[in-house]
Amino acid sequence: MAKTFENREGWIWYDGEFVQWNNAKTHIISQGLHYASAVFEGERSYNGKIFKSDQHTKRFFKSAETIGIIIPFSESEINKAKEDLIFKMNYKDCYVRPFAWRGSNLMGLSTTNSDVHVSIAVWDDWTTYYKLEDMKEGLSLITSPWKRPPPDSIPFEAKASGPYLICTLSKSFAESKGYNEALMLDYRGYVAEATSSNIFLIKDKEIHTPIPDCFLNGITRQTVIEMVEDQGFNLVERYVKPDELKNYDEVFLTGTAAEITPVKSIDSINFNTGDDTKTFQFMKDYRKIVTGTN
Ligand code: PMP
Repeated sequence: MAKTFENREGWIWYDGEFVQWNNAKTHIISQGLHYASAVFEGERSYNGKIFKSDQHTKRFFKSAETIGIIIPFSESEINKAKEDLIFKMNYKDCYVRPFAWRGSNLMGLSTTNSDVHVSIAVWDDWTTYYKLEDMKEGLSLITSPWKRPPPDSIPFEAKASGPYLICTLSKSFAESKGYNEALMLDYRGYVAEATSSNIFLIKDKEIHTPIPDCFLNGITRQTVIEMVEDQGFNLVERYVKPDELKNYDEVFLTGTAAEITPVKSIDSINFNTGDDTKTFQFMKDYRKIVTGTN
């Protein structure tokens, strides 16, 4: 059985100190837990080095600031803490999860005198985010009934816990129907993203991806855009209607955890997957970039 996340060996960086994993606790009466007053990051270390660590830290601070959380550490302290923790855990390849949340000083929705806590945990059992066989074969997606809200409903650039309820609802919906993932549309009905990744669509030498004006402009998305443009593909950011999906040959998802993951179907539309696809080549190219071996 997979290890649970509360009961493990090792260390967690917690408010500036390393504490034993099993002692990294918080009280159940905390604003972060009750009202999703929290932000987080998702990063990956390859060969002992976090890919785009500074950019993730900057997004972490920006997410916090967006929801009014002042992180009581500097960006360089967080960068060092991440490195020290990976070293202390003796990992080379792992997932990295910085987290900041409002604590137990107050209950209710006022945040004026809330206390803020920060932690970092790392784990090495997300070698692939999806099952290896699903990554190889490609994921099956179903369109979620839950939509990305308009930008004036919730700050969409922040990697904040609150909006993730839309993602967990969508993911549960997909799994309950026997699919691997959910495709979320936005409030206008355009194709937006999957529950923890951005989406790319391939037709010949053209690669299309939705405009991130109400969902996260992922760091992986930005890396992949640079990568495919460098390779001479014509990258187009556009609004995509769901009934246009059938016009594409290949589809893939991008995210720190998901890396590049092929999609074999969305609802009843099938896409090409396998070793002779462009997506497969991009997966290999992306790996070279993140491991610094290109
Ligand atoms: N969208 C959502 C909802 C996500 O959770 C993620 C993962 N952070 C992404 C997109 C991709 O972002 P990134 O490439 O920065 O990991």
